[in-house]
Amino acid sequence: MTPFEPTEDQRAIGALAREIAAREIAPHIAGWDREHTFPRALYTKLNAAGLMGLLVPEAYGGSAADYVSYALMIEEVARVDAGTATTLSVHSMICNAIAKLGNDEQRERWLERLATGDAIAGFALTEPDAGSDAAAIRSRAVRDGDSYVLDGRKQWCTNGGHAAVVMAMFRTGDAGSKGISAFLIDMSLPGVEVEKVTEKLGIHTSNTVDLAFSGARVPAAALMGAEESGLASALTTLAAGRIGIAAQATGILAACLDASVKFAKERVAFGRPIGAFEGIAFKLAQMSTDLEGARLLTYRAAALCDAGEPFAIEASKAKLFASTAARVHASEAVQIHGGYGYTTEFPVERYYRDAKITEIYEGTSEIQQLIIARDLVGRLDA
Ligand SMILES: Cc1cc2nc3c(=O)[nH]c(=O)nc-3n(C[C@H](O)[C@H](O)[C@H](O)COP(=O)(O)OP(=O)(O)OC[C@H]3O[C@@H](n4cnc5c(N)ncnc54)[C@H](O)[C@@H]3O)c2cc1C
Repeated sequence: MTPFEPTEDQRAIGALAREIAAREIAPHIAGWDREHTFPRALYTKLNAAGLMGLLVPEAYGGSAADYVSYALMIEEVARVDAGTATTLSVHSMICNAIAKLGNDEQRERWLERLATGDAIAGFALTEPDAGSDAAAIRSRAVRDGDSYVLDGRKQWCTNGGHAAVVMAMFRTGDAGSKGISAFLIDMSLPGVEVEKVTEKLGIHTSNTVDLAFSGARVPAAALMGAEESGLASALTTLAAGRIGIAAQATGILAACLDASVKFAKERVAFGRPIGAFEGIAFKLAQMSTDLEGARLLTYRAAALCDAGEPFAIEASKAKLFASTAARVHASEAVQIHGGYGYTTEFPVERYYRDAKITEIYEGTSEIQQLIIARDLVGRLDA
């Protein structure tokens, strides 16, 4: 047994997610993907099964599960639909951030609703001119008595069109990394608008929107942590979030392997199942090996996080490896399916479209490489 072998309880959460995904998502996913449907009612069902509150403390109605269980849940959901896994992953990331970084009032106000009350959470850091370089954000929060007044625009906020609450970063001080503060924003407040819904290459069941803030007034208690600690809060939140994206990529990879093995056994060419040809069998062997690697790296990062040990570098490595493998092998899965793989008759074209995003959001692969490299050699340019 490896140190990262999940326990029976952790596996039980994975099994529950698998069973629910098979029953509630699999029969509908082709249509939802085609129609770009955000399946709002699905989250009531996931909520009833305790999956929306997996990372929420029991005191607030959550399951208080650990990150290994969470990774197993995301992997099983992503194996059926990566878009639903995106929604769950961002929602859970914010539940965890509120539990760890929020104040008592924020925990009381939001956690129970997010764990049991059908509310969804979002995260808004990116702006039109600030993605990887998050310290370049311009949206402003100006203190006015007991409130802050928010102005600016946030781009590509996952869940934003359906979220009751969003953790968003605004500039309260000077330019640069230090002048940023985090806020927990009630999305029903006047002055907070969904400006645009973004159409995407993949993860069609995930909702991605631009948010406009125009003179939105939030109480001072909406501040998360100390003023000007917002970038650190965002980066801590994203480090844990990367375990979810690594698990999502692992789930896509598992789906590619399932579909490819089945097809390679069934499809006959030149009088033999195509799996009998080394050119195909070796692709399957590599896919299976990389799937195991992605799983182990993801479990290791999750287990370190659960043990209260530093895990950010391991989470970056897990995300980098799993997302690259998902992209490469989703392409191979299409190749193994030949012409059928390019049609919507088989799900691998969806896996191919969905896999790409795992290399981009919550820090691109280049940013993961930067984080890992700096851990090795330090900041040589500083
Ligand atoms: C579907 C979707 C959902 C998203 N959801 C959210 C969300 O919920 N909340 C949120 O805040 N954001 C979200 N994002 C934004 C996402 O996190 C950013 O797109 C991502 O961080 C990259 O930023 P960018 O697009 O501005 O690319 P840029 O930062 O402009 O990067 C462009 C290219 O340059 C590379 N690059 C940049 N800097 C360096 C460097 N120093 N060294 C080497 N290469 C570099 C990048 O790796 C990339 O290849 C989402 C994006 C998408 C597409």
